[in-house]
Amino acid sequence: MTLQDRLRDVKDRLQEACRRSGRQCKDVQVIAVTKYVSVDTARTVVEAGNIHIGENRWPDARDKWEALKGQAVFHYIGSLQTNKVKDIVGRFDFIHSLDRLSLAEAIQKHAQTLGITVPCFLQVNVSGEQSKHGLDPEQLGPFVRGLQAFDRIAPIGLMTMAPYESEPEDTRPIFRSLRKLRDELNQSGTLKKPMLELSMGMSNDFEIAVEEGATRVRLGTVLVGNEIEEEKP
Ligand SMILES: *Cc1c(COP(=O)(O)O)cnc(C)c1O
Repeated sequence: MTLQDRLRDVKDRLQEACRRSGRQCKDVQVIAVTKYVSVDTARTVVEAGNIHIGENRWPDARDKWEALKGQAVFHYIGSLQTNKVKDIVGRFDFIHSLDRLSLAEAIQKHAQTLGITVPCFLQVNVSGEQSKHGLDPEQLGPFVRGLQAFDRIAPIGLMTMAPYESEPEDTRPIFRSLRKLRDELNQSGTLKKPMLELSMGMSNDFEIAVEEGATRVRLGTVLVGNEIEEEKP
């Protein structure tokens, strides 16, 4: 499939998922995850109107950021070490992987220096897989209370990664749980401002995530391809 075909195909599938679940497509933002593709491909994706770009490592993202800053909106979707925060804050518009107070502290410090506020998704490990980053669901309430000390961080929603399932339908309970966690937090009165967003759904399972209320889907392979895999003999 060509890039243009993929972009069109994903758009159609998203529209179908929105229609099935009675949602409006404008309420679901696609983040094109460009970590497996070149600067040129990323530029083509942005020029085709997909201006939201996701990357998970600064060394790999750097060239794309330099080439596309000012044209694209950058989402940091990878796990973030405290000593790498200085590379990310001020360059990326959103952070999807806030999962501990020591990280919040580092983000706050750099944001303060720059005089900015950073919109963040709180990453939750809903599936409980050892290999996944994120807060345990039970930690979420206390974590959100702890975050209130950081006025340069705007918690705007929750993020999760579902395990890869050969049957995408099997991811539904994960996405449903994330939405429930968000709704419960909003009803608990802990937050000054409700968190409206859910960053969930990847190539394998984005239609299910949309049906369960995703406001941002993070799409790599299915949308922009995987040039690293394609180059393998
Ligand atoms: C790589 C990555 C994606 C996109 O993965 P695909 O399966 O290729 O769509 C989404 N979210 C995160 C956090 C990622 O690291």
